[in-house]
Amino acid sequence: MPELPEVETTRRGIAPHVLGHRITGVVLRRPDLRWPIPPQIRDDLPGQRIDDVRRRAKYLLLDVQTGSAIVHLGMSGSLRVLAADAPAKAHDHVDISLDSGRVLRLTDPRRFGALLWQPHGETHGLLRGLGPEPLADAFDADYLAATARGRAAPIKHLLMDQRIVVGVGNIYAAEALFRAGIHPARAAGRIGRARLERLVSAIREILAYAIRRGGTTLRDFISPDGEPGYFEQELFVYGRAGEPCKVCGTVLRAADWGQRATVYCPRCQR
Ligand SMILES: [Zn+2]
Repeated sequence: MPELPEVETTRRGIAPHVLGHRITGVVLRRPDLRWPIPPQIRDDLPGQRIDDVRRRAKYLLLDVQTGSAIVHLGMSGSLRVLAADAPAKAHDHVDISLDSGRVLRLTDPRRFGALLWQPHGETHGLLRGLGPEPLADAFDADYLAATARGRAAPIKHLLMDQRIVVGVGNIYAAEALFRAGIHPARAAGRIGRARLERLVSAIREILAYAIRRGGTTLRDFISPDGEPGYFEQELFVYGRAGEPCKVCGTVLRAADWGQRATVYCPRCQR
């Protein structure tokens, strides 16, 4: 599933090819993805210029004068810039043609992605109530300490709650907790300030590193089997249940506290 680094990599990859270009047409090969595609996408975009390409959480926003097209890549989506005459394949659902003779193509085999419309001056419901970006200054140890205070919920739940901080998926939460030496089920309100500081640093470092690694070409982050090409060689815990900890050799455990399985080292993390 594309996570925040893949979405940011996509943004950086497409921006130079679409910024400042006028949209000459929109082809919708199906009426819906996860949700129906609103009529403004087909009716309002043509003729307008793309003034900015932004990211909020895992949403990409293509800004034009009257609003923004919101793209979410879901489980399997990707955006590519291609020559206008590149033949569309089975899962190529949307083409946004540009005056450069190129086309911005949305591909999504599983169709959990979305293409939505946000009128100028409004905030789409999906973007309301989101917490700070993990790489923004607002996400610091002060913020996390204030948010965690008095909470008995496992710290991992807080990290994956989009109202608290956006875009920290299962993989990055598990890896950051390992690097900070914090047990994923530890009650958030019972973690000391210094450890929270380490956790914030770990989250920021891991995400920034993943973005740097993903920033070469648009296709590099999709491996041939369709799975995102995470920095697998460098994962300490994610996907490694039953294998030895790379730091201490203890067998890594998997536990399921509600949402999704979490792998951790019972010795390094407390
Ligand atoms: Zn260990």
